[in-house]
Amino acid sequence: MPPDRRLRFRNDRGVSARRSDGREGAAARVVRGMVATIIRPTAMGLIVQKFGGTSVADAEKIHRAARRIIAAKTAGNQVAVVVSAMGDTTDDLIELAKSVCKDSPPPKREMDQLLATGEQVTIALMAMAIHAQGHEAISFTGGQIGLVTDNAFSKARIQSINKQRILDQLDHGKIVIVAGFQGITPEGDMTTLGRGGSNATLVALGAVLAADVCENYTDVDGIYTADPRIVKSARKIERISYDEMLELSGLGASVLQTRAVEFAKKYNVPIHVRNSQNDNAGTWIVAETPNMEHIVVSGAAIKKNLVRVTLKGVPDHPGVAARIFGQIAEHNIVVDDIIQNVLDDNSANISFTVEDGDLHDIKPAVDKLCKDLGGKTTATYQSDLAKVSVVGVGMRTHTGVAQRMFRALAEAKVNIQNITTSEIKISCIIAKEDANKALQIVHDAFELEKAKA
Ligand code: ASP
Ligand code: MG
Repeated sequence: MPPDRRLRFRNDRGVSARRSDGREGAAARVVRGMVATIIRPTAMGLIVQKFGGTSVADAEKIHRAARRIIAAKTAGNQVAVVVSAMGDTTDDLIELAKSVCKDSPPPKREMDQLLATGEQVTIALMAMAIHAQGHEAISFTGGQIGLVTDNAFSKARIQSINKQRILDQLDHGKIVIVAGFQGITPEGDMTTLGRGGSNATLVALGAVLAADVCENYTDVDGIYTADPRIVKSARKIERISYDEMLELSGLGASVLQTRAVEFAKKYNVPIHVRNSQNDNAGTWIVAETPNMEHIVVSGAAIKKNLVRVTLKGVPDHPGVAARIFGQIAEHNIVVDDIIQNVLDDNSANISFTVEDGDLHDIKPAVDKLCKDLGGKTTATYQSDLAKVSVVGVGMRTHTGVAQRMFRALAEAKVNIQNITTSEIKISCIIAKEDANKALQIVHDAFELEKAKA
């Protein structure tokens, strides 16, 4: 089931953000693709802002973020704010759990109980900072705004949000601060939404509140044509479609969690990714417009730390693949790059990739499968792999993209192990040691450093 199929909340202020005064919000205008340039938040709108961990890493940064929040408020907007845990808090908490649990993995429920504390610290401090600057704010945990999730600890999916409590406070003129990344199960247990999950909170709030814009404040200027830490010539993208962003974040661009982009697409919420340290326009993630197809490749991405699982001797009859991936899905493991080959002897080889962090969970599931499939199926695991990808909606209408990518990799002597494609992306599985080089090569091959009209 796609992650958001179970969403029960409705955006009763109108999904296209048509406001009660009959005017269209910025969201609706962007959705209709009529705005080509940057839109500044207009007066009397509803803005949801999010500040990631680096933007609230210490007292000074919290105050800086508070000033930005207050500026949006005093410009006449209603402002709800999502915050992440300060700096590396989440990583530190994970290390702490490991140091206590030693070799056994921490129980997932307790892990979420622990990780949710990170964001709870920030909401209180942010509300205090706003008070200290002379404005009114109120903080809420996920549970306090009825952000209900399923019970998939560590990667829970949002099912509903009770927006009334937030709207009441906004109507009283308060700035509302919400803890990102966390929710509660219907039974009241703490859950977290997966690493980077504050973005999911941001977009879900944007959707239920019918926000004019979701502003995602982070420590980079926006979305780049490739990770600028690896490719020095990478360029900031002005506007990118939801679908391209979905592919890029699924393929390793870490700025935005995939689930958050799915939400944004479904509810047509424009996201503006910006740097919290400056006033530069960032990257707008919006619905696709016809002129986006002129750009063949919008960005390149690299995903490291992949493991390929290969099942050999799989019986070749209907229902087997469904059974294999059904059982894996029950363990909440995301698989990708599925490739099946049918051989002459009525058996098939099936391979797929998982992130190496999931190896611990997937091995027992695969071992059981091999047994259940009659004992002739064997599994092998190849680790230290990476995936280099190029993404662009223009691939739907332009030819020769694959050939250009493969040739560039070949000239640099990077061996391609597997190839997978979608309508708007091409991915090659390669050795992890070639990862950074391969990203630079494909970036150069498509001249992504040059701005396209
Ligand atoms: N604090 C969580 C993390 O580091 C959630 C987030 O930052 O979005 O993954
Ligand atoms: Mg963080």
